[in-house]
Amino acid sequence: MLNMIIFGPPGAGKGTQSQKLIEKYGLVHISTGDLFRWHTRNNTPLGKKVNDIMASGALVPDEITIAMLEEEVQKTPNAAGFLFDGFPRTVAQAEALDAFMTRRSMTVNCVVALDVPEEELRQRIAKRKEIEKRADDEEEKLNKRIAEYFSKTVHVLPYYERQGKLYTVNGIGAIDEIFQAICAVVEKVT
Ligand code: AMP
Repeated sequence: MLNMIIFGPPGAGKGTQSQKLIEKYGLVHISTGDLFRWHTRNNTPLGKKVNDIMASGALVPDEITIAMLEEEVQKTPNAAGFLFDGFPRTVAQAEALDAFMTRRSMTVNCVVALDVPEEELRQRIAKRKEIEKRADDEEEKLNKRIAEYFSKTVHVLPYYERQGKLYTVNGIGAIDEIFQAICAVVEKVT
């Protein structure tokens, strides 16, 4: 079983690389951002709860996010592995994921952090805005999302570094080159 986390700030290319990884390794893709967007689009009770938070670019509270993640993992007990995308984003989420995995006799094999400088991110997101309208990509919200990443989410990296599971991959370059670098990490840990 291969369980991996793809990590990086908004606009780092997590979505693009995730698609390629799930195809190659047959993983179940769990993107908490996609799940929350599905709930808000479908106006579910959870969607109503998180709508305003998401629209502001802030992080959804840990208990809500962790409960949703665990429910999603439990839907596919026979998965070949999971690719977590956009989760964990806080140390509390990382600890909860470890506890949950241990209860299920599973483990996180590696964390791939896409390294992209802030200036490059802003340019990429500006380009993405031209083709895909996402409410949370407006300037102010984008600043908030990037700020959330640098104030809260980066602290997750030392957590995995201490466990010897962190691999930093240069997120600048051709999509396939970046993908090859990620695959090299996967080959190393499996
Ligand atoms: P994303 O597409 O991963 O950038 O997620 C979009 C939005 O969903 C974020 O700005 C947060 O409001 C919320 N979100 C997604 N994943 C998480 C998470 N792990 N913890 C808290 N909030 C999250």
